[in-house]
Amino acid sequence: MKDCLFCKIIAGEIPSRKVYEDKRLFAFEDIKPQAPTHILIVPKQHLETLLEISDAHNELIGSVFLAASKIARKQGIAQSGFRVVANCNQDAGQTVFHIHFHLLGGRPMAWPPG
Ligand code: 5GP
Ligand code: ZN
Repeated sequence: MKDCLFCKIIAGEIPSRKVYEDKRLFAFEDIKPQAPTHILIVPKQHLETLLEISDAHNELIGSVFLAASKIARKQGIAQSGFRVVANCNQDAGQTVFHIHFHLLGGRPMAWPPG
């Protein structure tokens, strides 16, 4: 998608600190980390929000959580704990309209979130 920030990062047109890639996903460090580990796991397919997910994306979404646990192990936060968050639309604070999953860890986190 032409004017999408995350499509440009996936294409390498905008630099990022990549931590993981496979045929469906691209993952990189968040530019404004909210925890010692803050990685964005981004499907390569441009979908604007979680609301666009359909049965056709079952494998894609499954692969997100598999990648999250792989990355968490590699980053050394698997045993201490981590959180995977996807924000959808205004009330959740979504700012980039290409779906992505935040992988956060390295510090205790409050619940409920703010
Ligand atoms: P959202 O608020 O949509 O759930 O998350 C968007 C995330 O993208 C934010 O955590 C923000 O810091 C991150 N972000 C925005 N622009 C860039 C960028 O150019 N590079 C990287 N690595 N992260 C970005
Ligand atoms: Zn995109």
